[in-house]
Amino acid sequence: MKIQSKLPSVGTTIFTLMSQLATEHKAINLGQGFPDFNPERELIDHVHQAMLDGMNQYPPMAGLLSLRERISNKVQSLYGHTYDVDTEITVTSGASEALMSSILAFVHQGDEVIVIEPFYDLYLPAIELAGGRAVPVSMTPPQGPSGRYSVEWNKVEAAITSKTRLLIINFPHNPSGITLDASDLDALENIIKKHNILILSDEVYEHLVFDGESHLSMATRPALAACSIIVSSFGKTFHATGWKVGYCCAPKELSLEIRKVHQFNVFTVPTPLQEGLSRFLQNPNNYAALPVFYQRKRDRLIAGLSSSKFRVLPSEGTFFLLADYSALSEMNEFDFSVWLTKEHGVGVIPVSAFYQDPQAESSNQQLIRFCFAKQDHTLDQAIEKLIQL
Ligand code: PMP
Ligand code: GLN
Repeated sequence: MKIQSKLPSVGTTIFTLMSQLATEHKAINLGQGFPDFNPERELIDHVHQAMLDGMNQYPPMAGLLSLRERISNKVQSLYGHTYDVDTEITVTSGASEALMSSILAFVHQGDEVIVIEPFYDLYLPAIELAGGRAVPVSMTPPQGPSGRYSVEWNKVEAAITSKTRLLIINFPHNPSGITLDASDLDALENIIKKHNILILSDEVYEHLVFDGESHLSMATRPALAACSIIVSSFGKTFHATGWKVGYCCAPKELSLEIRKVHQFNVFTVPTPLQEGLSRFLQNPNNYAALPVFYQRKRDRLIAGLSSSKFRVLPSEGTFFLLADYSALSEMNEFDFSVWLTKEHGVGVIPVSAFYQDPQAESSNQQLIRFCFAKQDHTLDQAIEKLIQL
């Protein structure tokens, strides 16, 4: 039978590919973003107890009320915006489903969606499935020894046309690790004042902001909250990426449309996981302690690499650290990542994979991404290998 693919250019994701390669070559996997340690025992106990308590049948379509209440309280206390528990918060199958459902709900045939490049791999196929067209706007790549990626909002604004439906942003940013400051929010406010577009804000790393800074959510500014869909993930926050539980917060009329897709895509998300997460969220310290926990790991990796030929870039948030390998090799990023995995036993992700055209010269800045959501001894073993190079 001849099948016409709806996503002809999509293959296996770089994360799966590099994890497979790491397993095959028994390499230490600092590639795909997931912790190599368990969630807190208390959280696992809550989920177990929820199962024993009989919470094993369908929960409400939008998520358990108690979990939505705790999400609402968390967002209110951190960002000052109140989302209505009944109509504005939806528990989803990971952040992925929240992103996909939102894109399918709002992007019509021929609509344009602005994405900031480098970008997370889900956005483009989701836009394509919805019949839209992605319009990438490149960040300015790091320049000089202490350089970081940066967004030029005037370039973002210049890409808006009468067909633009959505602007997708992701801060703290995967893979660059950059975060937003107040001037970025000012620029975004200025854009949405002038243009009738929605913001899809992927804030999965909201609890991973370092050096005493705070995450600046779209929910911190009423004007931005009014036109934003904010997406988060308990996978990142509670070291449980395999549970695939996330949520989105959006004004009532937007949430209504997202739920129409959610309802017929997954209908709802496993009850005992939701109940366990709800009980665990009772203690705000369970997420408030995260920046200190991960900053130590970031700093351990940075300190370890200081005697290597890698030059690390600043990581303001996320559990990723970029490193420049230009002192070691002239290979492109993909080839270098494969070589490092196969020959030197450390799996990483090429940053070029976050570009529309990973082969292009402009997508290859000789940068790789390390994930430091790993046990200290895993990081130490990787460092030992990396300093040999
Ligand atoms: N967005 C970004 C930027 C991510 O890094 C991830 C992580 N995998 C996701 C979305 C998906 O999150 P989840 O696993 O909760 O679906
Ligand atoms: N978000 C994770 C990363 O950036 C990967 C998730 C996935 O494998 N789909 O590494």
